[in-house]
This record gives sequence, structure tokens and C-alpha cells, in this order.
Amino acid sequence: MTKDLAAFAKEKGVKYFMISFTDLFGAQRAKLVPAAAIADMQEEGAGFAGFAAWLDMTPAHPDLFAIPDPSSVIQLPWKKDVAWVAADCFMEEKSVEQAPRNTLIRMIDAAGKKGLRVKTGVEAEYFLILPDGSEISDPRDIAEKPCYDQQAVMRRYDVISEICDYMLELGWGPYQNDHEDANGQFEMNWEFDDALKTADKHSFFKFMVKSVAEKHGLRATFMPKPFKHLTGNGCHCHVSVWDKKGKENAFADKKDELGLSKDGMHFLGGIMAHATALAAITNPTVNSYKRINAAGTASGATWAPNSVTWSGNNRTHMVRVPGPGRFELRLPDGAANPYLLQAVVIAAGLDGLKSKADPGKRYDHDMYAEPGLAADAPKLPLNLLDALRTFDADSALKTALGEEFSAAYVKLKTGEWTAYTSHLTEWERENTLDI
Ligand code: ADP
Ligand code: MG
Ligand code: MG
Ligand code: MG
Ligand code: MG
Repeated sequence: MTKDLAAFAKEKGVKYFMISFTDLFGAQRAKLVPAAAIADMQEEGAGFAGFAAWLDMTPAHPDLFAIPDPSSVIQLPWKKDVAWVAADCFMEEKSVEQAPRNTLIRMIDAAGKKGLRVKTGVEAEYFLILPDGSEISDPRDIAEKPCYDQQAVMRRYDVISEICDYMLELGWGPYQNDHEDANGQFEMNWEFDDALKTADKHSFFKFMVKSVAEKHGLRATFMPKPFKHLTGNGCHCHVSVWDKKGKENAFADKKDELGLSKDGMHFLGGIMAHATALAAITNPTVNSYKRINAAGTASGATWAPNSVTWSGNNRTHMVRVPGPGRFELRLPDGAANPYLLQAVVIAAGLDGLKSKADPGKRYDHDMYAEPGLAADAPKLPLNLLDALRTFDADSALKTALGEEFSAAYVKLKTGEWTAYTSHLTEWERENTLDI
């Protein structure tokens, strides 16, 4: 594990470091620091004006310092002169509570105090589109059921294989790449890891996919629902909880029908209990609610949930138990902040463990064909405001994540909602002009 960034630069021939932090809206912000200056920056951090990012700060606040975590450093495989390093935000020597990576670290520490170690894997779907964003990039990618389309994935072989080669080089253990269920949509999978490692990889993956796509004259988007008639970009999160050493899966129980232990069920119970509130974080944009509440898509299924239900190996519910010792939360989308996604899963799960929450009835029917069979299950929020209000009313979840974090998040996201609703849409004009 890298400890000394200056030594890393010398050994690898790195000329610049991107000291990068992620703000509350999921934007990655960085300063490019020459290797000659990295030793001091590693101590003191790179200085930023917090107000210039989405962190709920004013222009009058003192400097925000982003202190790189050397264990996260990655030499850019496509530009070896540069290395990316995730940083933690400090102000006047204090950790900034609302900074997403700090929030996640707090949740990991809370799990650690209970002797638990959360391991997760994410499936960050994306579209390859034209640089102007208007359409998918491949005009021949028009099949009604394009999932796993062999010809279409090979037409993007140069992009996909370049990204996968980089993941191999970085030792992430990538194991499959495919054309997904929407025209122009792809998914690449790599091995699960500790939650902080997964969040850093998830952040870097988004940066890498966008960079490689641009290199090939294309654009990559993780937007939850970029095209109304097509399946949206999910970001399913697979979760298991281990002992402190990471050897023993505390979620696994061979005797259980689904292979999920009692603690696994309680953790899942926490996710179910807080689902309508945590959607404000796993589905953080106005556009997110066009994925989870979509009518059918051209392929025949949205693959996204609209109710709080769980199941065995059945992809029509919000939570699936695909195999022993883990569950898959299918709610998050491509806009989810990589750090807050992990943080809120841990916060809700730990609350479930504490209260010995019961995940409730398991549903095994086709939820798309027969939603009425789960008519009693809570509905997921219909829009961002609905989600934010539900989150704001969930004091247990807000306290677990941190009061300062939660207040900042609700405030900034409500502001975003207000900006959206003050915008006059085409739909309104078409439907209201002649009223
Ligand atoms: P699917 O499309 O069937 O949902 P994928 O293979 O695309 O599944 O993604 C599965 C993800 O789950 C991968 O990141 C994988 O490493 C991860 N995963 C597998 N086992 C576990 C586990 N025990 N804990 C957490 N994540 C896991
Ligand atoms: Mg300046
Ligand atoms: Mg997958
Ligand atoms: Mg998928
Ligand atoms: Mg999945």
C-alpha cells in the first residue's frame, strides 16, 4: 500500500497528482499538483474555496483542505504522467462532516466498532452517446432486445477492451463486459471489495469511462434515464458483511433457504425500513425518478423497482438475494454519489442490526406482471422532493449519517429541486397554453 506519494512519483515516473474530492452532488473536483510539491500537499492538503463546490459552505468560510489518502492513489493507465488520489476534506484541522468520503469513513468506523466489515460490489451501467449528447453513438444498435448483443458490443470493442485492460492492469479483477438492456448501454463488472475501496474504484471508474470514451470521440453518460423509451442506468449494489479480518462472511448461513444469516436478515431489514428515505441518496437527481417509476421500455422491462419489496433470485423486486451470503440492492442509479451510496447502505443496515429489523414478507412473483400482489408494500418516492421529504422525516437515518451532513444534503438538494421546478417545461406549454 502506498504511503509516500513523493516516492510513488519517483518510482512510477508520475509528473502530476490530481488531488480529488467528491462533493455532495457527486462531482469530482481536483487540483493538479506537480510531483515536486506533493510531499507538502500530502501533509497539509490542497487548498480549495469550499463555496465553489457543493458542500454547503459560504464564500466567507476559511480554506478547505483536501488531504490525499495515499492508499487510494492510481496512476492513470491512459496518461501515465498523472496519478489520481482521493482526498478527505478538512477545515481548521477538523474533518468536514458533510464531505461524502468523510461520511462514508464514519459509517465504516461505526461498523468496525461492532466488529463488522462491509464489502460491496457495484454495477455502474452507462451509455456511449454522441459528443453532443443527443443520441446513442451507434446508429445500428436498434434491436428491440439489445441485451448481450454480440455484434453491437464488438462495434465498441476498442472502448470496452481499453477500459477492461486498464482494470486488469490495476488489479481490480474485472470478469465480464456486456451490452446491456438498452440500445447503446454497457456494463463492466469487477470484483467486490471493502466499501471504501469500492467507492474509490466506482469514482475512478466513472472518471476512466468518461475519459476513454472522449479519447475515442464519444461521450459516456451514467444519467439514470437519458432516453425515455429505453432502460435506464442502474447502479445495483451487492452487499455482504464480514468479520473484522474479512475472512468470515457474517451474512452467510448454509442452513437458511436463501443462505442469509439472521444478521444478514436484520441488515436487510434496515434497508427495507429506510428504503423510501434512502432513495434520496441512492436516487439523487430529478431524473432518477424517471427510471424507478418508468412505464415499460422497448425491451419489455425497466429492470428498476417501484416498490419496497425483496425476493430470492428474482430481478423484478427492489432487493434480490442472488446467492448465499449477500443481497443486491437494485434501487441505486448511475447518478448515485459513490461514497454516499455506500454510506447510506451501511447506515440503514446497522440500524437494522441494532433494532433487529425484520425485512418483512418475501415476494417471489413477477412484480412487473402482477404489481397488485404486493399492493401492501410501500411505494418508492415519486420524485426527488418526495424522497427528500421522506429522508428529512427519517431522524434515525439522519442521525446515523450525521446531523450536519443530513442538513447540508437536504438543503442543497431541495435547492436543486426548486431550481428544477422554476424551469418552464415544454410539457407544460403543450398542455396548458390553450387551457
Ligand atoms: P448481476 O448482473 O447478476 O446482478 P454482476 O455479476 O453484474 O451481477 O455484479 C455482481 C457484483 O456483486 C460484482 O461486483 C461482484 O463482485 C459482487 N459480489 C459478488 N459476491 C459478493 C459479496 N459476497 N459481497 C458483495 N459483493 C459481491
Ligand atoms: Mg486562487
Ligand atoms: Mg450485472
Ligand atoms: Mg445491468
Ligand atoms: Mg445486478
